[in-house]
Amino acid sequence: MADEKKVENVIIVGGGPAGYAAALYTARANLLPLLFEGFQWGGQLQNTTDVENYPGYPDGIMGPEMMGQFRAQAERFGTRFVTDDVDRVELSDGGIQKIFLGEEEHRAKTVILAMGAEPRRLGIPGELELGGRGVSTCGVCDGAFFKGQRVVVIGGGDSAMEDSIFISKYASQLTVVNRRDAFRASKIMLERTRERDNIDFKTPYVAEEFIAGADGKLSRIRLRQAETGEVEEIKTDGAFVAIGHIPKSEIVRGQLDTDDGGYILTDSGSTRTRLAGVFAVGDVVDHTYRQAVTAAGTGCMGALDAEWYLRDTPPMAEAHWMPGGEPAEIAPSPSS
Ligand code: NAP
Repeated sequence: MADEKKVENVIIVGGGPAGYAAALYTARANLLPLLFEGFQWGGQLQNTTDVENYPGYPDGIMGPEMMGQFRAQAERFGTRFVTDDVDRVELSDGGIQKIFLGEEEHRAKTVILAMGAEPRRLGIPGELELGGRGVSTCGVCDGAFFKGQRVVVIGGGDSAMEDSIFISKYASQLTVVNRRDAFRASKIMLERTRERDNIDFKTPYVAEEFIAGADGKLSRIRLRQAETGEVEEIKTDGAFVAIGHIPKSEIVRGQLDTDDGGYILTDSGSTRTRLAGVFAVGDVVDHTYRQAVTAAGTGCMGALDAEWYLRDTPPMAEAHWMPGGEPAEIAPSPSS
């Protein structure tokens, strides 16, 4: 049982780039952050191989190694970690925020939500097994590895179109497979994709299986024509599943405003949610950019918003301040 009287300055929920960046900044502001990083800490980068698009790593770095470095940097300045998944939260509008691990209650004056998102999966054989061996969910991350090769992109939304345009700069031939003849993508994105000489479309087809070759890497995809039921296999070196993301916002549903897709809504240009003292950062907010570097950037924003909130909010009567946890040296906000 956690000490019920103790009220943390800041609790961060989520151990991806956004959560670790928020921890680094709040730790360096002497706020002694407590980070619930999740049982599988590291977020989506834990399932990534080479990361070549994070500034500062000219030779690239493996995703898990990079997350280890993010974590170590946050730890260096005093972040405390709980490597477990938060079960539920009781959020308050300007009062004490409560975070629960089972029945164990943790209290804080501010909370930064950084639970991230996960790519929506097809749920077909080979999809997980061939992850990193031909099957990917991130065109921007992995597209360049398919130079001169054949690639399939599955999906019909803007992400699928954007991935296709990007990957087609490297791939020799790219096929977009969509389960309907109609596309969810915006007209302009669809047109731009159609304009590319090395992209063709296959609709309405449903992917049924990713099949490995003798080398253990993806070599074929089995597709089913959605109307006739006819099945065929096409050869490919790479497959990108781009059918949307699912934000991990379950624990705050009903307490915070979310959009139709479940992404937490924040005030424009800030990380503030509709509840004072509650901030949201990274992919649980962002359905557009979803990059490690953008997530880390908003993690920093969340930390600064939390600092400024603590600075500007009078102490609560029920709070027992953490010794040494006062926000002693806080930079002025741009508005102050
Ligand atoms: P999305 O708009 O929800 O599109 C998802 C696509 O995947 C749809 O074509 C959907 O088909 C398909 N799909 C879903 N589940 C499937 C399944 N189980 N099997 C096969 N296909 C499946 O998601 P998104 O493309 O990631 O875009 C998300 C948001 O970000 C959108 O608002 C988008 O405009 C925005 N975005 C914008 C840009 C840009 O403007 N540059 C780039 C990326 C994303 P159905 O249509 O049949 O459901």
